[in-house]
Amino acid sequence: MAPAAPADPIRLRDLAKKATAGGVLSADEALLLYRGLDQPSLGLLAHDVRLRINPPHADGKVRVTYIVDRNLNPTNVCVTDCGFCAFYRSPGDADAYVLPREVIYQKVEELIAKGGIQLLLQGGHHPRLDTRWFADLFRDLKQRYPQAWIHGMSPPEITHLSKLEKRPVRDVLLDLKAAGLDSIPGGGAEILVERVRKIIAPKKATTPEWLEVYRQWARLGGKGTATMMFGHVETDAERIEHMTRIRELQDETGGVFTVHPVDVPAREHRDGQGHARRARRAEGDRRRVPAHAQPRAPLPAERAARAVELRHARHEDLPDRAVDGC
Ligand code: SF4
Repeated sequence: MAPAAPADPIRLRDLAKKATAGGVLSADEALLLYRGLDQPSLGLLAHDVRLRINPPHADGKVRVTYIVDRNLNPTNVCVTDCGFCAFYRSPGDADAYVLPREVIYQKVEELIAKGGIQLLLQGGHHPRLDTRWFADLFRDLKQRYPQAWIHGMSPPEITHLSKLEKRPVRDVLLDLKAAGLDSIPGGGAEILVERVRKIIAPKKATTPEWLEVYRQWARLGGKGTATMMFGHVETDAERIEHMTRIRELQDETGGVFTVHPVDVPAREHRDGQGHARRARRAEGDRRRVPAHAQPRAPLPAERAARAVELRHARHEDLPDRAVDGC
């Protein structure tokens, strides 16, 4: 196949202006920019978009926020067997666990002692832990640690509970919200394209299922985050397709307050034969900067600005101490 012709620099400049001004790029336009700009230029474009959305303060300083949180994985038992996952264990494995309450309490207390406010509470798709188990846990934690914000239960975990209990996603969410769930993490989005999901996570929630959890959560007044796990079998066009789905979800719900890119080599499969290792060879570091810059450019300005405001509303009283970025 002949190499693609270099992108027209005038066209790239016009598209960069459009993105900086808050225009909504089509998938083709976003792909052109993503492939046509070198890394520093794409990074600068993302920075310009960021400054438009979150301009410097009167003192000329740019405000950067962060959150102090802790990952808490109540169980590593999972029946979903994603090809890239180094975390999970099958039921009956020697090192499979469900954390005892005392261990969970200790982890929360360590978080609070460090000035943290948020628990990122996610885990495996356990075949026997049901919504009641999680609701009891959330109620317990909220009673003991009312200051803790529970950011938990990614959309595939909710889909799993819904299927396990044969009841609607909305009912599962209602129970968890009533028990103290504050926001949902965007884990398990990987790449929201079915060709990719069938290869790397064929038993996990599908793209429509992932999006539907988010919609239902937003209808209950909930907010959450989104992720993009990149660097495995996806193409550049599929990364753009993924971000387009997130943008459309944000247009529809206004419920996404941040987007996290996650590169897959950090999460190798436990037997070393998963997609991650192949991805590391194929991908290297070359595409990481564009992947981190990319989520900024396609989001419409107003929605992204609201997202930034929401983050500030939650984060502005944090102590000046970084533990874990969110
Ligand atoms: S990434 Fe997949 S295999 Fe790993 S815990 Fe989540 S659902 Fe289970």
